[in-house]
Formats: sequence, C-alpha cells, structure tokens
Amino acid sequence: MRAVVYNGPRDVVVQDVPDARIEKPTDVLVRITSTNICGSDLHMYEGRTDFTPGGVFGHENLGQVVEVGPAVDRVKVGDWVAIPFNIGCGFCRNCERGLSAFCLTTSDRSVFPDMAGAAYGFAGMGPYRGGQADLLRVPYGDYNCLKLPPDAQERQNDYVMLADIFPTGWHCTELAGLCPGESIVIYGAGPVGLMAAHSAMIRGACMVMVVDRHPDRLRLAESIGAVAIDDSKGSPVDQVLELTNGIGADRGCECVGYQAHDPAGQEHPNMTMNHLVKSVKFTGGIGVVGVFVPEDPAPQDALYKQGEIVFDYGLFWFKGQTMGTGQCNVKAYNRQLRDLISTGRANPSFIVSHETPLEDAPDAYRHFDARDDGWTKVVLKTGA
Ligand code: NAD
Ligand code: ZN
Repeated sequence: MRAVVYNGPRDVVVQDVPDARIEKPTDVLVRITSTNICGSDLHMYEGRTDFTPGGVFGHENLGQVVEVGPAVDRVKVGDWVAIPFNIGCGFCRNCERGLSAFCLTTSDRSVFPDMAGAAYGFAGMGPYRGGQADLLRVPYGDYNCLKLPPDAQERQNDYVMLADIFPTGWHCTELAGLCPGESIVIYGAGPVGLMAAHSAMIRGACMVMVVDRHPDRLRLAESIGAVAIDDSKGSPVDQVLELTNGIGADRGCECVGYQAHDPAGQEHPNMTMNHLVKSVKFTGGIGVVGVFVPEDPAPQDALYKQGEIVFDYGLFWFKGQTMGTGQCNVKAYNRQLRDLISTGRANPSFIVSHETPLEDAPDAYRHFDARDDGWTKVVLKTGA
C-alpha cells in the first residue's frame, strides 16, 4: 500500500510500505478514502517531537471496512466508518469512564511506566501506523469504529472531522465549562480553534471571540458569526477586555499549543496560556487542547526543553479560575456530533480548503506547515 512516511524534519514522502492487515481477532481493516493533515502532524513534521523516521502519519481517518477479524461482532465489511484518533480498548478503568484518550491497555509503557493513551501515527502514543495510507489496521475495531449514516460517502469532508478536530474543539469548550449565554475567547483560528468556535456557536454562546493573525482564518471565524481579533493589530487581551466591558470572557480556549508565537514569528510557549489568564474573567474556566509535550527536542525556549513554561499562576489562582487540559476523548462526543452533522445542525467541512490526492501529500504538508494563505485544512484522498 502507499503511505505518507516521515523521513526527518520537513521531509515526508509517499512510498510503498507493507500492507496493513488483520493481526488480532479484534482488528478491523479499513480502506481509507479521506485522511486529514492535522496541526498535530505539524509538530512532528517539524521535528519538534521524538517521532521516529520511517513512521507513517495520519490520525484523522475515514473509510470503508474491507475485512474484520473473527472476534468482531458489530462492524461489518462495507460499513463506512470514522475512526477516532485515540486507540482505546473499551474495557480498562479509563475507557470505562469515557476517558478513551487515556487507555491503559493500548498505551506504550516504554514512554512512561504509567503511560495512558494511544493514537495512530503519533509521537509517544504507541507503535500504531497512521492512516495517511491506503489501508489502516484498527485495533479493538468494535470499539474504535464509528458507523456513519447512508450519506457518508458523499459527505466525507464533514464526517472525517469526527476523527479528531470537531470533537477536540467541542471538548475544549467542555473543559472550559461553557454554558448557554456565556461568552468565550478562543486563541488560535487553525482547524481546532475554528471547530471550537463552531461548537461554541452550536452550544449557545452569546459571543465567540477568535484570536489569530492570519486573515484567511479570521475570515472563516467571521463567516460562522464569531468576532475576529487580529493580535498583529494590538494586544488581544485589551481587545477582549474592551468587548466584555473590562470583565473578561466567561470562558477561554487554548487551540494553539507549545509552538505559540508572536505575530513576528518568535515562539513563546507560555504566550497563549498567560493571555488566557488575563482575558478570562474571575472564576472563569479555561480549556487547553493545544498540544504541550514533556520534552521538546528542538526547543526555541530553553525552559521548554523539559516542557516547562513560565505560567502566570499567581494571577490564575487569584482570579479563582479553573483549567482542564489534554487530548480529547473522541468517543465521549463522536456519536452526538455525527448526528448533528447528519441532521444538518453542524457542517464542520466549512474549514476545508484543499482536497488533494495522497501522492501530493509532500506539497500539501509544505503549504499547510507554512500556514500559506488559503491553506486552512487539507483532506488527502486516496482515490479508493
Ligand atoms: P494550526 O497550527 O493549523 O493552528 C494554530 C493557529 O494558532 C495558527 O492559525 C496560528 O496562526 C495560531 N497562533 C499561533 N500563535 C498564536 C498566538 N500567540 N495567539 C493566537 N493564535 C496563535 O493547528 P490546528 O490543527 O488548529 O491545531 C491546534 C493545536 O491543537 C495544535 O497544537 C494541535 O497539535 C492541537 N490538537 C490537539 C488535540 C487534542 O486532542 N488535544 C487534537 C488535535 C489537535
Ligand atoms: Zn489531529
């Protein structure tokens, strides 16, 4: 099969690799038809994680089931499925509680002895190959495949967002504690920030503010009714305070991660975190889904080599704020979000800017990594 293989920093190739296949009776084999490039891939693509060269990227996957192991009951050959980026078992202590991002069965204990969580094609998240390929092996297939409705094939660009970023954006608003009628500020208008904004609108926020500096991304935020805040034109904190009568937003979302930078491009891994503390009100809630890692092999900031940041903890504490963090438990939301899509209440494909054949992945990675104007989300198509 063909697959997008990581060679080293900013170097991916599409090449033939051994076919994915059923390895355990509980596996499902999926022929991938749509697979996205994610901002999380970019941290790895840029060499800012310990992702091993030779590995296959791709954790936002959708396709059709072509084979099932003998212990698979629910999923059938021919089903169209969206596959959560987390690989859970469904029966461990965490999966049972809905924390499918922190599975204790599938995790790689060589990373940490108490490591929880696994994913496809992801640094530190186990040996699982990614789905930017013709075929994907899905462990514990009955648990990890979300069956899609009859319009799946025609609406792949909507449903493929169920694998990661739509649930992740939703999760961020959940971690922040958003209630109907509240205001929310979202740092980052990449795909995840835009999905958080889409989620906040659906959940009844009275005002959704989105901070970034890329005009194309800010325009997309405005197109769904959010207030765009351009932080290259002035302090985003001041702009949020002005929009909220000096009080700050009820809720805040971090959708950037440790490669947060100023508009001139200089990285400050604490930048969005401290902006959030300042632009969220006393007793407000903050959700952090932007990725932070325990070690950065190529840090731009000395402290961050060990994953540490200078955090404005005094003000955070003084304001009585709360914070939730981490990978999204996709299975906690994906059925409900699927039904919002199928009934037309959600249309996450509004962020898709490019549909590209799998062969063109290296070029698509270059453009998306450069945040070139108009490259807001790439869906790779295998042509299957
Ligand atoms: P992206 O890189 O395309 O978007 C990030 C956006 O943040 C860019 O538009 C950039 O201009 C903006 N930005 C950078 N510095 C900023 C700052 N100081 N203030 C405001 N905006 C700033 O990536 P994405 O696909 O949207 O993903 C965003 C983050 O979410 C990444 O860290 C990704 O790894 C992470 N992620 C987490 C999960 C999860 O489960 N927790 C899932 C998917 C993605
Ligand atoms: Zn992703």
